[in-house]
Amino acid sequence: HHARRERSGFRFYSQSMLQGAATRLRRMRDLQRALREEELELYYQPLVSIEGVVVGAEALLRWRHPREGLILPSEFVPIAEDTGLIFPLGRWVISRAAEAWGRWRREGLSSLLISVNLSPQQIKDVQLVDHLRETLSRHGIPPGYLTLEITERTFLEHMGSREFFSRLEEMGIGIALDDFGTGYSTFQYIKQYPVKAIKIDKSFVQGLPARGEDVAIIQAILTLADGLGLAVIAEGVENEQQALLLRTFNCQIFQGFFYKEPLREEEFIQYVKALHRPPGQ
Ligand code: C2E
Ligand code: MG
Ligand code: MG
Ligand code: MG
Repeated sequence: HHARRERSGFRFYSQSMLQGAATRLRRMRDLQRALREEELELYYQPLVSIEGVVVGAEALLRWRHPREGLILPSEFVPIAEDTGLIFPLGRWVISRAAEAWGRWRREGLSSLLISVNLSPQQIKDVQLVDHLRETLSRHGIPPGYLTLEITERTFLEHMGSREFFSRLEEMGIGIALDDFGTGYSTFQYIKQYPVKAIKIDKSFVQGLPARGEDVAIIQAILTLADGLGLAVIAEGVENEQQALLLRTFNCQIFQGFFYKEPLREEEFIQYVKALHRPPGQ
C-alpha cells in the first residue's frame, strides 16, 4: 500500500505550501523579467583604509521594482539561487561591476579594488571562469583588482572544487572570505587556497566595544590573519567607538554605515572624489 503510494508520486501539499510555490514561481518570472529589462542595479559601498582613503568598493545588488520599489538581495537572491537564475544573474553582476570599474578609471580613479559576491551555486557554473577572464580583459582590469567574496561556509563546502580555485589563482583573482567567524573555517585550509582577505562578520563588530567575547574573537582573527599575511576587512562598522577600537587592534580596512552606506554609482564616484580632493581645493 505504502510502496504504491510512493511510486505513484503523490505528495500532499498544504494550502500554504501551494501558495508558497505559486508565489515563488511568480517571483522567479518577475526576476527573469527584471534581469532582461534592466531593473537590477549595483550599489557600491566604500572600503575605507585606516588612513581614511577609499581603497575600493563592494558591489551590492539591488532590484528597483516598478511597483514595489527598491528590494534588497535577501528578498530575491535566494529565489535566483533556487531556480538556477543565479548563473546568468551572477555573470551579469560581474559584467556590470567591471564596466563600472572601467568608468572609474576614465574618471581618474584607477587604483580602486572591486569586490563582487558569489553565491555557492556559482562555483558550479561552468561558464564562470571564462566569463571572468573575458570580462577582465575586455575592460583591461588587472586581475588583482577584482576580489570574489564567498562566505566561509561556501568555501568549506566547495573546497573539493580545486580546479575552480586553481583557475582563479592562475588568473590572479583573489578570494575574500565573507561573514568570517560565523562558519567553521580553519586557518589550516585557508593557506592552501588563493584566499587573500577575510571579512569579519558584522555580528562580531556590532558587539564592540562592550562585549568581551566579540573583542576577543576579533583580536584573535586579526592576529592569525596577520601571521598568515591575509588582509582583514571589518564589515558592519556603525559607530565611532567601533572604528576606534578596530584601529587600536590594527585592523586596516573598514566597511560600514559609519563610513558610508552602499551608494548608487554616481554618488560613489562623487564621494571618492570629494574625499580625495586635497584640502582647500
Ligand atoms: P554581504 O556580502 O555580507 O554584504 C554586506 C551587507 O551588510 C550588505 O547588505 C550591506 O548593505 C550591509 N551593511 C553594510 N554596512 C553595514 C552596517 O554598518 N551595518 C549593517 N547592519 N549592515 C551593513 P545587503 O546589500 O542587503 O546584502 C546582503 C547580502 O546579499 C550580502 O551580504 C551578500 O551575501 C548578498 N548579496 C549582495 N549582492 C549580491 C550579489 O551581487 N550576488 C550575490 N550572490 N549575493 C549578493
Ligand atoms: Mg560580501
Ligand atoms: Mg559580508
Ligand atoms: Mg554579511
